[in-house]
This record gives sequence, C-alpha cells and structure tokens, in this order.
Amino acid sequence: MEKKNTWETYSHKQLKEVDEFAKEYMQFLDMGKTERECVDTIVNTIEKDGYKELQEIIKEKGKLKKGDKVYAVCMNKAIAMFRIGEKPMEEGMNILGAHIDSPRLDVKQNPLYEEGGFAYLDTHYYGGVKKYQWVTIPLALHGVIVKKDGTTIELAVGENEDDPVFFISDLLIHLAQEQLEKKASKVIEGEALDLIIGNKPFLIDKKDKEEKKDKEEKGAAKEAVKKGILAILKENYEIEEEDFISAELEVVPAGKAREAGFDRSMILAYGQDDRVCAFSSLKAMLEVEESKRTACCLLVDKEEIGSVGATGMQSRFFENTVAEVMNLLGQYSELALRRCLTNSCMLSSDVSSAFDPSFASSFDKKNVAYLGGGMVFNKFTGSRGKSGSNDANAEYLAHLREIFDKENINFQTAELGKVDLGGGGTIAYILALYGMNVIDSGVAVLNMHAPWEATSKADVYETKRGYVAFLKGAKL
Ligand SMILES: [Zn+2]
Repeated sequence: MEKKNTWETYSHKQLKEVDEFAKEYMQFLDMGKTERECVDTIVNTIEKDGYKELQEIIKEKGKLKKGDKVYAVCMNKAIAMFRIGEKPMEEGMNILGAHIDSPRLDVKQNPLYEEGGFAYLDTHYYGGVKKYQWVTIPLALHGVIVKKDGTTIELAVGENEDDPVFFISDLLIHLAQEQLEKKASKVIEGEALDLIIGNKPFLIDKKDKEEKKDKEEKGAAKEAVKKGILAILKENYEIEEEDFISAELEVVPAGKAREAGFDRSMILAYGQDDRVCAFSSLKAMLEVEESKRTACCLLVDKEEIGSVGATGMQSRFFENTVAEVMNLLGQYSELALRRCLTNSCMLSSDVSSAFDPSFASSFDKKNVAYLGGGMVFNKFTGSRGKSGSNDANAEYLAHLREIFDKENINFQTAELGKVDLGGGGTIAYILALYGMNVIDSGVAVLNMHAPWEATSKADVYETKRGYVAFLKGAKL
C-alpha cells in the first residue's frame, strides 16, 4: 500500500497553520515539563474557554445541560474534560485519552549528601530510560515541596537563560577502557544517576570566623558544601533538609523545545511522549464546538510506570467523574453509567515508534510509522505475540477508516517494531475493560524516551485534524 507524504497534501494556508500549530505546541511543552505543570497549563487554557470545575458546580448545587463544558482534576496530576453533547450520555461518549507523565529522574526522599567536595541529590529514575543518555547534559529541577503546614513551594530551576543548571557526571574517555567493555544497560547504573548541585563550601565571614573560631570552624569544614546548599535552599525557597520528605522533584533535560532541520520540519524536545497527543487532543477538544455525543478528553499520569496509583488510568477517578457528570445532567443510574462507558468510542492516544533508517533492521518497513506519514493507528501493541495488548476490533477500524477518509486525514497503520524485539503498552487495555471500542493512535516519535525526542510538525497538525474528525464523527 502506497501512502502519501503528509507535507505534500497541504495547501499554502495549511502549511502556515502547521507552523502556527507547532509554535503553540512548543510553548505547551516548555510550560509543562511535569504532569503538575501540564495540568496547570491546561486548566488555565480551558477556563478561558468556558470550562467550569466539576466540584465547584457540585458545591453550588448547580446542574449541567447540553453544550456545557466541565472538568475535574485528580491530585493536580490528571484531568478529565467533558463537552456535553445532544444525546443522552447513556448512548456513549467520544473519548480522547493520553498521558502527561514522561520518563525522568525523581529526587529521592532523603537525597542530599556530600562526597569528594560535591553536593549531590540522589535520584530514582521513572519510566523506561537508557541511563547512559542522562549523563553530561544540562538538567533542570522541577516540582513541588509541600511543607508540614500544607503550603506548597513550586520549583523550576534551570530553564531561564540566567538560571543555573545541574548535571550528572560520566567517566572521562581516557580512563573508560573497562567501562566501555560493559553492557550498555550497565555502563551507567541506576544508583549512579546522582545530580551534582554544588561545589562551593559554606563560607563564614572572616570576622565571624574569628569570633566563633572554636565552636564553628570545625563544624563548617565537615560537609561544608552541603551546608552551603542548605543555606541557599533556606534563603531562596524556605526549604529545610527534612522538607525533601514531602517533595516531588523531577530532574528533566534543561532547555526549550526547538525546531529541527534546515527545513524546520521537525520538533526536538523533551517529553513529547505523550504530551504531543495530550496537546493535540486538548486542541481538538477546544475546536469542536458542537457534537451529537458528549466529547471527552482524559489526560492521565503514571502511564510510564504501568498506569498505577490514584492518578493513573487504573484509578476509579475517570469512572467516578463520569458518574458525577451524569448525575448533574439528571441522567445517573448505575446501569446508565455502565451503558455510557460500554457505548463509548475511544482513541487511546500515545506515541508510536518512527522508522529509523540508522536502525532499519529493528522495524518491519511495511508495518511501521514514518515521520511525516500522518496520524498513526496501532491496532495492537504488546510484546511477544501481542501479550498485554488491547487489540482493536476490525469493525471499529472500519468505522474509523470511513470517518478519516471522509475528512481526508492522512493516517498510517503501524506496529512498534519487529515481532519479538520488545514491545510496550498504553492505557488502551484499561478503558477496553468497560467493553468500549478502543484503539491506539497518535504521533510517530524518533528516539522515543530519550532526553530529546523528535516529531514531525506535519504529523502533530494532522493528528489534531484526526482527533477533530473523531470527536465529530465516531458513533459506533
Ligand atoms: Zn512512553
């Protein structure tokens, strides 16, 4: 089957839209380097568009009706949005689902130590990473520190040009003979991913020094660099060492999303898995002003570690929220809720691996996504004989083909890579548990899960077009 390159299908007007859309997308990436930052950015955007918080409506004893826009947030890390359609919810929704967590290094709960004149933050990596990719690159620190009294200190250091950055060291090549003999998975061990955050000892004023000579001088010399860091944390952020216990700090690549290539056809940025699908789903949701079925956009956390926890897809958050929405519409019953979920259609939107000519033997060229090939559908994911996959129904695929062909959406079908080379999963199988039609779809990414991932501007734009067509047209 021959497929066109998406770029070649665009009019002048569309080519301009592609660039504008990419610009907005890159801003979204820069503003949301953690799931909390993403949720903040999204809430700010949708409130301007007239979305109201579900809990507020409940508190005010309000009601919902056709055309209303409502959202619910779970622990500041997951969000569900609904635009109420004409038909009763019982007849099903059209759901766009994606995840907003990305692979990174999390700071441990007792992280701060000094060794060999450096102050470090100890980390534990999150999600699937090639550990050797995270050394010697500029890193930023994002997250929250929650004090015992409940106040939250938000932190984002390393993104502004005059901010300091942090880094993880690697052994110099001159002494790396033994290291380079190791397997790539062992070259940099997980426990060695410790962040260097300082090298200057705490300096005591000369005058002070003399006054406090006996009691202070010895103390200052011991772990003086760590002491210096603690003094800065205290002065700038009101943080004590114990406060790391109730902190969520994420170490991510420092720097903004960039256009890539002389032709500026691509985007190179951190965290495009899966914020590229989250952003295009969000934009499609805002674009579709009217629909027969209720439109829903669900952006969840913890996909990269198995969709676990209160903010992951396995949580009852989504089901409970749908129940609340139906209740405010005067349509709730246990049976109506079950019917709503079963009758829904979903695009489980996650990134797909793009064909990489440098590693051609890892892919089946006929069944892989190409950068610039348009929106991607994965009928199934999983590994070793589709294990762990949601395998979308052929009838559903036929329905989607009809919708997408009618709207001239460029799409391609793909598998992650060659059979038996590995695999992966998404949130698709969890929604499929309700008996709804679910398929994996999204955007192709080159060097997925690396600190800097690449996408095609055309694919990002085309996928948004696809989501719009889906929200308007799906009704199986
Ligand atoms: Zn991923």
